[in-house]
Amino acid sequence: MQIEQSGTSADRVKVLVDLKKAGLFRQRKTLESAQSARVSLNGKTVLNFCSNDYLGLANDPRIVKSFQQAAEKYGVGSGASSLVCGRSTAHAELEEQVAALTGRDRALVFSSGYLANLAIVSALVAGRHDIIFQDKLNHASMLDAAILSQAKSVRYPHGDIEALKRALARTGFGNKLVLTDAVFSMDGDIAPLAELAAASAEQQACLVVDDAHGFGVLGDTGAGVLESLELKQSDVPVLMATFGKAAGCAGAFVAGAEDTIELLVQKARPYMYSTALAPALAVAASRSLRLLETETWRREHLSGLVERFQKGARQAGLPLQAAPSAIQPLIVGAADRAVAISEALLSAGILITAIRPPTVPKHSSRLRITFSAGHTEQDVDLLLDALVVCCHEQLPGAAGHD
Ligand SMILES: *Cc1c(COP(=O)(O)O)cnc(C)c1O
Repeated sequence: MQIEQSGTSADRVKVLVDLKKAGLFRQRKTLESAQSARVSLNGKTVLNFCSNDYLGLANDPRIVKSFQQAAEKYGVGSGASSLVCGRSTAHAELEEQVAALTGRDRALVFSSGYLANLAIVSALVAGRHDIIFQDKLNHASMLDAAILSQAKSVRYPHGDIEALKRALARTGFGNKLVLTDAVFSMDGDIAPLAELAAASAEQQACLVVDDAHGFGVLGDTGAGVLESLELKQSDVPVLMATFGKAAGCAGAFVAGAEDTIELLVQKARPYMYSTALAPALAVAASRSLRLLETETWRREHLSGLVERFQKGARQAGLPLQAAPSAIQPLIVGAADRAVAISEALLSAGILITAIRPPTVPKHSSRLRITFSAGHTEQDVDLLLDALVVCCHEQLPGAAGHD
């Protein structure tokens, strides 16, 4: 159903009522504890299978300590945008560390990934003659970046490299930008990155890869999907990832060639007109990167848990979209059905928020199950048992819509 936004108070009430009727009203949960494999919610401890804290670092005491010490030195607020006086040695050191880890010439730190994607597009797209090509299932921040730009926008079907090639070949002058998630945020599958790199190079298009969900999780040193596929800066000129997921902090970076990064500093309005990341967070992120690089057991344990889950789900006949990442979606279809399963799971002590349109396409509401190195094998078994009970109670014949 189309939900319209409009002016009067009565209109606003109607929008809210319509959302409720469609099973699309969102209720925020308020945790009473730190982010972790187990969290406290409404006075109860529940097992958390929906955070992006893939390596279990969000509450690591060593990172907490770095953050505290940095706050003693730098204070709390950064005080200004990076171009005025908000940038400190904390930011500069983090940028050098990211460039080294990702094998890129230079990196630029942002206070959020959403902002970083807006910045990339606003700096690299000059005007109406430019064209942005992107996967239909890209993260909302890239879709929004294209909407905000003056450029023409082409959305190709998910992972359809042939459709992209045809679209690229049809277009004439102007800059061409190809944007893609590396690991798709709601599906956990990986984009055909080598093919995307080749197709982009052939048509002089600039490929931008958002590795929010691969950074820290994939690659031998945790540098992400591009490390695991051995794709260099010459293959993927612009790499973006965040510190808010596997790194357990907040903020994001863009990495690439000297000129590309300098262009962002000079021209990206979301960089120029937003207060710099808190310096203590930059220090915490820096500590986190050193940990995720060296503590390879976290990635190994995580992939063991995912394997155990996939095997168990197959045996139990659960309709799992098995994916090669920490994101394992269970697509249930109707929005209200996804909510009912999520509520049943919560009663059983398991937290998995239902993901509904417009975050995912219609009729593909799902439980976006995510794993963390903070989980144990027993946690995975508890999850499987609960899923079997809750899904079988809720799935067959239950009427639903979205
Ligand atoms: C989370 C996410 C972002 C946004 O990052 P924030 O730091 O949370 O603003 C961008 N892209 C993808 C693919 C994401 O999953």
